Amino acid sequence: MISIEEARAAVLAAVTPLGAEEVALAAAHGRVLAEDVAAAHDVPPFANSAMDGFALRAAGAGGPLRLGGESRAGAPFAGTVLPGQAVRISTGAALPAGADAVVPVERATVAGELVTIDGEVAPGDHVRGAGEDLRAGAIVLRRGSRLGAAELGVAAGAGRAGVLVAHRPRVAVVATGDELVPAGEPLGPGQIHDSNALALAALAADAGAEVVASLRAGDGQAATVAALRTALDEADVVLTSGGVSVGPHDHVKAALAELGVRERFWRVALRPGKPTWFGERDGVLVFGLPGNPVSALVTFTLFARPALAALQGAPPPARRRVVLAEPIERHESRDEAVRVRLDEDGRAHPTGPQGSHQLSSMVGADALAIVPRGTGRMESDATLLAELL
Ligand code: AMP
Ligand code: MG
Repeated sequence: MISIEEARAAVLAAVTPLGAEEVALAAAHGRVLAEDVAAAHDVPPFANSAMDGFALRAAGAGGPLRLGGESRAGAPFAGTVLPGQAVRISTGAALPAGADAVVPVERATVAGELVTIDGEVAPGDHVRGAGEDLRAGAIVLRRGSRLGAAELGVAAGAGRAGVLVAHRPRVAVVATGDELVPAGEPLGPGQIHDSNALALAALAADAGAEVVASLRAGDGQAATVAALRTALDEADVVLTSGGVSVGPHDHVKAALAELGVRERFWRVALRPGKPTWFGERDGVLVFGLPGNPVSALVTFTLFARPALAALQGAPPPARRRVVLAEPIERHESRDEAVRVRLDEDGRAHPTGPQGSHQLSSMVGADALAIVPRGTGRMESDATLLAELL
C-alpha cells in the first residue's frame, strides 16, 4: 500500500491544468485567476480627503479662513484653494488644487463665510495620497489565487471589469450500490439513503467544480459500465463511491478497466479510505472512492480536492499544524485521518466516534488531523499536520 503523500503525488502527476476563459467580475466569485492582475491606475486614483471637513493650506491655517466653495465625493472643486481660503470637503472627495491638508469638521467653527480652525495643522493631515493603496502597474493579484470578497473588490478598484479565470472542472458523481435509495424516499428492507452523491457533489462544488452529472448504478457490471461511460464522456473528473473493495459485488475497478481507464494506484495506507482507487483516461481523472460515507469524504479531501485545485492552476488547499487535545491510539499500518474541531488555541479535539460509517462526527469538524501510523498512543500535546475542511 502506498502512503497518503505518494498517492497525492500520483494524482497531481496525472493533472493537466484546464484552459482559461474571460468572465465578468460579478460572475468570478470562487474562480481561480489564470492571469496576474495589475492596477490599471493609481488606487486611489487621486489625492482625497479622509474626513468630512475643510481643505486648506496648512501654512496660514491659524487665522480665520474664507469659505471658497465645496469639493464633494464625485464632484470635485474646480478652482484652486488660495492662501487664506478653505473649501468644504467630504470623505473621499478630491483634494482641490492648492490645498495640502484637511481639518475635520469637529475642529472647525463656521461663522457666516469665515472658518476658524482649532489646533495645529500640518501638510498631509487627513489626506489620502493617490496610489496609497496601489501604484499604477503594481501587481495586486497573482495567477492561481481564488477570487474571494477581497480579491473581487481589489480587482474592481484596480480598474478591471473582468478577469481571466481557469475553466471550472466538470465533475460527474457515480454512486454505486444496490442498497441505495435517493434522499427522502422510503426505505425498503436493507436499503439506505444515498448520502455520498450529495456530499461529494457539495465538496466538488466547494472546490470550484461544476457538477455536471450525478448518476447511480446498482451492483452489476453492465449497470456500472453504463453509468461510468456516461460520466467519462461528460466530465473532467469522475468521482465514484463504493464498489472498489474486494467483495463479490464490487464492480467499479473491472468496469473502469473495460472502459480503458488506466489504474494509477489502488489502496492507500490510510484509515478510513484504504480501498481508494485512482486512474486516468485521456486526461479524465477517475477517483474510485470507498462507499463508507466518512471514507468517501476523507479520500475526496485528501486526493480529489488537490486535483481539482491543480486543474484550476491553484496551489493545494491549506494544511496547518495543530496540537492534539486528547490522546489517540495509533493504527499500526495505516495513517489515520481523524476528524477534529479546532479550538481558539489551535488545539484539535476529535469530534466523536471515528468509525468510517459514522458520518455524524463529520458535522462540525474543522479539519482532518493526520495521525501517523505506529505503535502505542499519540499523546495529547503532540503536533499533527491537519487538512483544513
Ligand atoms: P462499498 O464501498 O460499496 O463496499 O460500501 C461500503 C459501505 O458504504 C456500505 O455500508 C455501503 O452501504 C455504504 N455506502 C456505499 N455507498 C453509499 C452511499 N452512496 N451513501 C451512503 N452509504 C453508502
Ligand atoms: Mg457497495
